[in-house]
Amino acid sequence: MPTNRLYYNDSFVYEFDAHVAESLQIDGRQVIVLDRTAFYPTSGGQVHDTGQILVDSREIAVTEVADDAQGRVLHYVAEPIAVNSVVHGQIDRERRIDHIQQHTGQHVLSAAFIELFNMPTVSFHMGAETCTIDLDTAALSSSQAQKAERLANEIIAQDRPVAIRFVPLEEARQLGLRKLPPKQTGDLRLIDIQDFDLTACGGTHVRATGQIGCVLVRKTEKVKQGIRVEFVCGLRAVKLARKDYTTLTEAAGLFSAHIHELPQQIRKSIDDAKTAAKAQHRILEELAEFQADRMLAEASSAPRIISAVLPERDASFIKLLAQKLTAGKSDVIALLGSLSGQPTLVFAQSPGQKSNMGQLLKEALVQLGGRGGGSAELAQGGLPQSTEASQIDSLLRVTAQRIKESSRE
Ligand SMILES: [Zn+2]
Repeated sequence: MPTNRLYYNDSFVYEFDAHVAESLQIDGRQVIVLDRTAFYPTSGGQVHDTGQILVDSREIAVTEVADDAQGRVLHYVAEPIAVNSVVHGQIDRERRIDHIQQHTGQHVLSAAFIELFNMPTVSFHMGAETCTIDLDTAALSSSQAQKAERLANEIIAQDRPVAIRFVPLEEARQLGLRKLPPKQTGDLRLIDIQDFDLTACGGTHVRATGQIGCVLVRKTEKVKQGIRVEFVCGLRAVKLARKDYTTLTEAAGLFSAHIHELPQQIRKSIDDAKTAAKAQHRILEELAEFQADRMLAEASSAPRIISAVLPERDASFIKLLAQKLTAGKSDVIALLGSLSGQPTLVFAQSPGQKSNMGQLLKEALVQLGGRGGGSAELAQGGLPQSTEASQIDSLLRVTAQRIKESSRE
């Protein structure tokens, strides 16, 4: 037997008495079917109610509510309840009114998109934080989205009555509904927002549009079936606006600016950071050149092998230094190590010499458990974070010795 749905005639029934018609297990979960219920099952994009079932002196949580193919409403409950028990149902009011606001707000917003731009809604999703509708349209400008939001809020402020009507399918076809369900037998349940929207729907709705509170359109994005519009209604809109404001205020505090000046301040910060990075790069180039000249002046006879560990420098600096040491020379080999950031080795040589930097680096890395590689001319590798300057130093000495020996052969 299909369940008698009390919310069909009144969305504001929060408490009711009923009999347990069936008590069953579905996928190992306890389920009861009542002869009548005010609990709304997940359907039509609207999420189910939660609440309690009171029986004898027990208070049993209803964690999920679903529809089945026979028109029964399945209440997933925390404990079994015997068939024929007399029970009292209580709906979680805050959750229900939130769903009513989001769901009826969707009717108004969808109708506004039709009225203004003839963009039909093809699907609706209610999430825990925000809701979305998908519009059948190739594009939607932000000005169009704002116009639809404006019209929806005007309809809400006009507090238009929202009526529930039951009419036969044939009669409904003549009424020019915004949406007709694909398959339907018997009477259709119509939701009539006075002189604005008429559609078939099984959900829960406000009595007059003022109860929606407001509609706030948020982001829009392109999806497979058109444009997805994210929105929130009523107290959710206030909650999200409050969160946005808190975030903006915190960000503005960091800049000692008004929240409306934030984009300008952030752009300025990004520009300043770019300028500073460029200046720093120039200074490092000069420093590397200066250091390279000094190292070359102190170097021994050909091949000039320059080996050094620079604890205060990072990988990008020693790479720069290696290039300054070897470029434009014919006989320099640079074996460098850095410790700032990840400990790193860079081996480089002037072009045309017989050593192979990639090969030497690989052999050196094996000694300290690092990874990397490169060409015969330039190679780079990272070492474990725990590597110490003395370990790198002795490794570079051994490598330099090998190069000297092989150059004498
Ligand atoms: Zn509805």
